Amino acid sequence: MTVATAVPKLANYFNGGWQESQTADWLDVLNPATGDVIARTPSSEPAEVDAAIAAAAAAFPDWRRTPAEDRIQPLFKLKQLLEEQLENISRIITQENGKTLAEAKAEMRRAIENVEVACGIPMMMQGYNLEDVARGIDETMIRQPLGVVAAVTPFNFPGMIPFWFLPYAIACGNTFILKPSERVPLTMNFAFDLLAQTGLPKGVVNLVHGGKAAVEATIDHPAVRAISFVGSTPVARSVYSRAGANGKRAQCQGGAKNHVVVLPDAEMESATQIISDSAFGCAGQRCLAVSVAVTVGKAQQEFRDAVAEVASSLRVGDGLEPGVQMGPVITSQSRKRVESLIGTAEKQGAKILVDGRNAKVSFRGDGYFVKPTIVDGLPAGSEVADTEIFGPVLSLIHAKDLDEALQFLGRSAYGNQASLFTSSGAAARRFRYEAPAGNVGINIGVAAPMAYFPFSGWKDSFFGVMHAQGRDAVEFYTEKKVVVERWAKEHSRKF
Ligand code: NAD
Repeated sequence: MTVATAVPKLANYFNGGWQESQTADWLDVLNPATGDVIARTPSSEPAEVDAAIAAAAAAFPDWRRTPAEDRIQPLFKLKQLLEEQLENISRIITQENGKTLAEAKAEMRRAIENVEVACGIPMMMQGYNLEDVARGIDETMIRQPLGVVAAVTPFNFPGMIPFWFLPYAIACGNTFILKPSERVPLTMNFAFDLLAQTGLPKGVVNLVHGGKAAVEATIDHPAVRAISFVGSTPVARSVYSRAGANGKRAQCQGGAKNHVVVLPDAEMESATQIISDSAFGCAGQRCLAVSVAVTVGKAQQEFRDAVAEVASSLRVGDGLEPGVQMGPVITSQSRKRVESLIGTAEKQGAKILVDGRNAKVSFRGDGYFVKPTIVDGLPAGSEVADTEIFGPVLSLIHAKDLDEALQFLGRSAYGNQASLFTSSGAAARRFRYEAPAGNVGINIGVAAPMAYFPFSGWKDSFFGVMHAQGRDAVEFYTEKKVVVERWAKEHSRKF
């Protein structure tokens, strides 16, 4: 590991400017492809969190009075800036997260899509009304912003996930605090430099770096009305209960263990390619990555042989290098954990068909590489079958029919995504109807909802009611007010 001579120390952004942190506790940000220290993030003190929240609270009264049409103008500007800076921001994502540049660009396209959808707030935020609910009495539902709202985001999509929240929150008239992952803070520092150019009034968007202490100070602060969280299930669960205990609304997206079912009538060549992209894209560090492939009937052998061939042939390396198809995992601890889970699967009786442990990558750096791995015959119900691995590991299990495959899915504690590969409409309909997951793919490997649909995890993959994105975001970031009105006729006669 080399330490560059001038490693930048990152600042927080609040009250319309960059604020140097006073903390003594700084974390190294590493390029996972090289092990180089590329920045230092402050573990912001609760007093710094309080100062950011105070700035957001001070900005709220005027921002909520700003017409919706005016509130979205900075978002049009932001879209333009993100388009212009797509290459630069994507390079930062690759450097701090490890995914390939193509994957980083695809991520930023989804971020921009959320900015575009939030520009529709003047229509999306409308309420409804009815005249004469009783004679001469009218009733109206209006939506009002909550106040200060906050989001806490994970390492695996440093550019996209903050934008599942920020554009909708501010377009609805709230002011916003972001606490990005301390492992990938550079992307949002770059994005906030762009936000600073959009004409947003000071205090409307704020960025505070840090970890658990900063998150807890945010949840506990009386001025914060709502928390959006994306990360692992244990933290999602604890953030949700802490927010609840503080009387706040919360939407907390957790971990995943996604299954794909491959029926014998699937178009095997394209299914293999799509499933392999899902399992190994972003080094398996996507909450919608396929982790378990359940083959049915005679799909077993054909799929197993084909996917093993694709997995063995993927080019692994630094995501900035042309031709690299898969980057490293995020940290050396993560590599150790993934390799240890592969070892556990082996001990529990599975065969390691393609083994990505101890990866040799012809590349100058000291990165955290695990190559694509295929684990065959994992006993259903074993520890590894139920554990989120979050690395480039695809487990294969076999079912005699679709009934049995659906039973495997039903046993999982998670419900983020389930996919089916088939050419049968009847099987597809049954799967769509019965699959116990919030995002379902039919002949799709990563069933990521577009920004105008909710990102709909179920079971231990989500705690809350309203999901991220689209109409759910508007519902989450607004409070409904119902007004019932009666005006006596004699008053109107005066005029
Ligand atoms: P993580 O839970 O470790 O961290 C997420 C965020 O929570 C970070 O900002 C971190 O600083 C903060 N945090 C960590 N520990 C905390 C604590 N004890 N109290 C309060 N805050 C804390 O998750 P990660 O490793 O950054 O991300 C990977 C996880 O995120 C995986 O489990 C993945 O499945 C999940 N994920 C889920 C979705 C989804 O939509 N369901 C999307 C992306 C990632």
